[in-house]
Amino acid sequence: MNRRSFIRNTLITLPVLSSTSSILSACEENEININYDGKIIIIGAGASGLYAAHLLQKKGAKNIQILEASLSYGGRIKTLSGFADFPVELGAEEIHGNNNVFYRLAKNAGATFTDESTSDYYFFKNSLKNEQQANTDNDFIAASNLLNNIANYSGDDITVQQHINNIGINVALHPYLNAQIGNEYGTSNQRLSMKGIAEADNLWTAGDEDYPVANKSVLSVLEQNFATIISKIKYDTAIKSIDYTSSKIILKDQNNTEYIADKVIITVPLSILKSNYIAFNPGLPDSKMTALNKLGMDAGMKVILKFNNRFWANDLSSVFGTGAVPEYWNTALGRTNSNYSILTAFILGEKAETLTALSETQIKNILLSDLDAIYGGTAASSGFLAIHIQDWTKEPFIKGAYSYPKVGYAGAREALAEKIGDNLFFAGEATAVNGHFATVHGALETAERSVTELIATIK
Ligand SMILES: Cc1cc2nc3c(=O)[nH]c(=O)nc-3n(C[C@H](O)[C@H](O)[C@H](O)COP(=O)(O)OP(=O)(O)OC[C@H]3O[C@@H](n4cnc5c(N)ncnc54)[C@H](O)[C@@H]3O)c2cc1C
Repeated sequence: MNRRSFIRNTLITLPVLSSTSSILSACEENEININYDGKIIIIGAGASGLYAAHLLQKKGAKNIQILEASLSYGGRIKTLSGFADFPVELGAEEIHGNNNVFYRLAKNAGATFTDESTSDYYFFKNSLKNEQQANTDNDFIAASNLLNNIANYSGDDITVQQHINNIGINVALHPYLNAQIGNEYGTSNQRLSMKGIAEADNLWTAGDEDYPVANKSVLSVLEQNFATIISKIKYDTAIKSIDYTSSKIILKDQNNTEYIADKVIITVPLSILKSNYIAFNPGLPDSKMTALNKLGMDAGMKVILKFNNRFWANDLSSVFGTGAVPEYWNTALGRTNSNYSILTAFILGEKAETLTALSETQIKNILLSDLDAIYGGTAASSGFLAIHIQDWTKEPFIKGAYSYPKVGYAGAREALAEKIGDNLFFAGEATAVNGHFATVHGALETAERSVTELIATIK
């Protein structure tokens, strides 16, 4: 997820924690030594899997292993090196708020944040407008009011698009609202529950501002904090079956290699659980199977474009369009002193589904035409230098962007998060029940929850 502060600006920002001890999360601060030598396997080496292992190790679990299907750690945190003289984020990019464990881990790793004063730009009714110009348009003002009042929504469980239609927002502003809501939540307004996002906004406690890391990659924040855990990862190990019929859990990977554990924490993305890639024996309880259908995880991609000139305003944060790409942002801003002209196209949901079927050249041509239309002329197509496409749908063990609430979502995350017996635990962003789903800090918090649950089962 990216930049959600716009829709959360009515909430209160909590103070930044600064003392050394506050670098630690509440779960870490609760120092106990469980002295446990049973085998704990964590499936998945994304943010939640790494943090769960880190917490367990700190608390005295002696026999931890992480099984990771791909050839690298980080999951939906991934960095592109060599494209520019700074790391370009292909997955998670910003820390949403300063009152959460991800912010504290980043500070612990010496992260600094971009602090430029920036402006958003809007393309609607056939012209590009700055904030001041947009705010003279009554339809834009009505759309902004809707955005500012998401948390106050108390109506039926309908889609965001139905709510927009009910309010009567001019269709010229529907793409903008899709960029700010549906796209941010990993889908489109037609598929997203209005009640679900209002509820999430009201639960949110992570802080209001967004913090794009300026001086290092997001992956290096994990590397620096979890250095001792990374050696415990077994890569290229895709778990295909989990037999929990007895007190020892038997896992099998794609080569039929067996792993036996006393406790297992499953952190795989929602899409992997939905796809039935992992065969559970016995099958997952009905409550979890129903929950899987109540949440969505759609296609998602970032396309990084490099140009030989900057044809956008120097202070551009994001530009919201009406075409193939809901939002582009100014990737180099605050991250380098060099004269890089790089935009990140952020495309999720139905629009990403369309692009994922196309070739790199087709995607490039569509995006350059889109930018030429926004900026007028041929600045984008004539100044194009390079492209990098990160299509998360094509990552075989991610298969999409992140989880979102569909109409009928109620109770789904709670059911998904629930442990089975005393040895099977569930973490990962989709299991965040506190409104922090679809974020890194949300994923980290689920690790804390699952570790707390696991420790409570050790007699
Ligand atoms: C394009 C994009 C932009 C984003 N931007 C932001 C942002 O700016 N800020 C923010 O806070 N969040 C952002 N997010 C969301 C954030 O990246 C995720 O919520 C978070 O990283 C999820 O962590 P996780 O541990 O739950 O899952 P993952 O990171 O997906 O980790 C799960 C791991 O499980 C592995 N796995 C899957 N199946 C198996 C199997 N069968 N056996 C073994 N291993 C398996 C996967 O390979 C993966 O490594 C963004 C996400 C995307 C896609």
